[in-house]
Amino acid sequence: MTIPSPTTGPDDARLAALRSFRVVEAMAEPGLDRITRLTGFSLGMPMVWISLIDDHWVLPQSCFGVALAPTPRHAMPCLRVMESDAVLVVGDLHRDDRFTTASFPEPLRAMHFYAGAPLVTSEGHRIGALCVMDFNPNRVLSGWQRATLTGFAALVMDQLDLRRSEFGRATVAGRADPSDDACLSVDPAGDVTFVNRAAETMLGHAPGSMLGKSIDCVIPAALRDGDRANLVQIAREAIANGAGRTIELTALHRDGTRFPIELSLSVRQTPMGNRLEAIIRDISAWRARDPVLVLMAQGNTLSGLANRAQFDARLRASLEAREHPGVLLLNLDGFKEVNDSLGHAIGDMLLQAVAVRLPLCVTQDTLVAWFGGDAFALMLPSGTEAASCATAILDAFRAPFHLGEHTVHVGLSIGAALATEGAVSPDDLVADADLALYQAKTDGRGCLRVFDPVLRRAALARRTLQDDLSRALKAGELVLHYQPQVALGTSQVIGVEALLRWQHPERGLLLPGAFLSALEAHPCVDAVGRWIIEESCRQAAAWRAAKLPPLRVAVNLFGVQLKSGTLARDVMNSLDRYRLDPAGFEVEVTERIALQADDTVLDPLRELHARGVSIAFDDFGTGYASLSSLKRVPLTRLKIDRSFVRDVLTGRHDAGIIRAVLGMADSFGLQVIAEGIERPEQETILRAMGCHEGQGFLYGQAMTPRQVAALIRGKGNRRLSAA
Ligand code: C2E
Ligand code: CA
Ligand code: CA
Repeated sequence: MTIPSPTTGPDDARLAALRSFRVVEAMAEPGLDRITRLTGFSLGMPMVWISLIDDHWVLPQSCFGVALAPTPRHAMPCLRVMESDAVLVVGDLHRDDRFTTASFPEPLRAMHFYAGAPLVTSEGHRIGALCVMDFNPNRVLSGWQRATLTGFAALVMDQLDLRRSEFGRATVAGRADPSDDACLSVDPAGDVTFVNRAAETMLGHAPGSMLGKSIDCVIPAALRDGDRANLVQIAREAIANGAGRTIELTALHRDGTRFPIELSLSVRQTPMGNRLEAIIRDISAWRARDPVLVLMAQGNTLSGLANRAQFDARLRASLEAREHPGVLLLNLDGFKEVNDSLGHAIGDMLLQAVAVRLPLCVTQDTLVAWFGGDAFALMLPSGTEAASCATAILDAFRAPFHLGEHTVHVGLSIGAALATEGAVSPDDLVADADLALYQAKTDGRGCLRVFDPVLRRAALARRTLQDDLSRALKAGELVLHYQPQVALGTSQVIGVEALLRWQHPERGLLLPGAFLSALEAHPCVDAVGRWIIEESCRQAAAWRAAKLPPLRVAVNLFGVQLKSGTLARDVMNSLDRYRLDPAGFEVEVTERIALQADDTVLDPLRELHARGVSIAFDDFGTGYASLSSLKRVPLTRLKIDRSFVRDVLTGRHDAGIIRAVLGMADSFGLQVIAEGIERPEQETILRAMGCHEGQGFLYGQAMTPRQVAALIRGKGNRRLSAA
């Protein structure tokens, strides 16, 4: 066996030759393992390894009797072998000035004897070494044994050639053009640990210049943190199921242009830690070539995920094959808030990030689809996996998304439906999952609900109620009743709270509990809210005309009214129309409204407050509203929730809370009214604590305007006027 005389050209050519062997650090290679083992047995050597050597690293490809990680090349003896013309033999490493054994990796430091044959390509490039070691110094290698070592080194090259041509074949078989393939590998910190020439060319980087750099350099600045965080995330998360994934991203060429790429990802564990490996394809030409794909890409910007039509087709096929697939529908909780507060670009980034994270939580045979907006769907091959799959996804979504300079937490609500024995259509299954999703959302989000036929009946009832409500709105069946608010002690009526009632032709007078949630979901809710403001102002003017003493009139707001953009104007217009003093009008908001993420929803309240309208904080104490929310919302009055009043006589705790609320209101300069006073003893203790206003059945339930007038005219009379 003769060794071709080595080329002494620049290192670039050698590195290019090395890269052509698709060396990705320590790639497990059974063919190479056989050679190292055989070398060890034939030469009686306890340690054998094959190393490829790039410009910085010794990259062990196969080891026998020792486990070696990639090591800086100055810290290994291999470089000397690679540079020598024939087999290099070192009788005792510890006595040879050319080597510093102290810098060797731990397992090699105790060794004395060393020998190696260079690995040389057919073109004469030296790319590595086949090395052996022994504990005993000064072993003798016979001429025959040296020839054996050289022969095994040649076998290593044969094996590497085979790998190279197989890689090429696999590429040809799998893809249109093998030269499209570019490879890149990053560590969990997002730093490039390997990149081949094709990738460098595609991305416009000089040979070797990307190594050790952050993957940032190939990601457009605007997407940078989002995508890189995702790549890092992938590297971390994908280890669990390690399966290959394909995602699409936008890449940045060195010259500043952007182009679409497709990444086929896999995660590999190496002695240096985990690596995310990607085969990169530039898909701009591919997109441009295929008009159907272009359409798909436009219709589904989160491409990589299936769209609705593809999802339905796969689901139908599965059902027709009498499989029992499971469908999960997923909705991002808080996506709208992200969109509204951070803008659509960040919203889109979030969706992209979700489209990357989601497939990593599921098994390879799960179809992941994007239905548009913040709606995603999964088809599981078997419905029995629904719960565990949903749990894994909910877990994965606990980690925040890093989007540009923003860190965003979004939760998921998941609805599941499982195909059972009976014939089901894809539409039915998706509709069932949708009902379960609705339930998950109403149950407080961030959870999984599985479809149950009860949900379908509830949905039907909801729809019937909505239809009935539409009719009622046209027929003017909604009315306002008013509940008195009094000065504690004198029971003098100082104000009223307008409360909505539905005068139903068949069911009688309905309280909000029977229809409010349907109304809030009704497209007319905004109009109803405006009507409540107008009607209560009209009523206040009517009472004034009837010479009743001035009454403060309070109305409850719907959440949408704050977002409508017309609230302040609506209120001011109605007050103007009826020439009412803004100080005699109050809007009640709950903390659900006050705690909205987007601060701009509070703007109308600020404006109303500035114009002298009172703002009351309803049901105070029932939720998480805290001092900080008090500071954000411009307030006039706190309404102590009736649950505290109910237990004020018995629960020491509740008395304490009321006392605290009163003290706090005092320091904030806020007024307080206690709700739900039903018994004289409650009034007595509240008064003793320093609360001056109250509302409750003790003074009257919500009643018609005429009953309000009668109650005030018979002032001092505590007779209850039931509506
Ligand atoms: P809320 O704003 O806390 O209204 C007070 C509720 O407590 C009213 O129930 C009232 O009838 C009831 N209540 C008053 N005093 C007592 C008492 O001494 N004991 C007991 N047990 N209950 C008492 P209602 O009218 O059924 O209203 C329920 C909820 O519906 C209201 O709670 C409010 O959140 C909503 N709502 C009512 N009317 C409107 C409206 O016009 N617009 C909006 N946006 N929401 C409304
Ligand atoms: Ca209220
Ligand atoms: Ca209340």
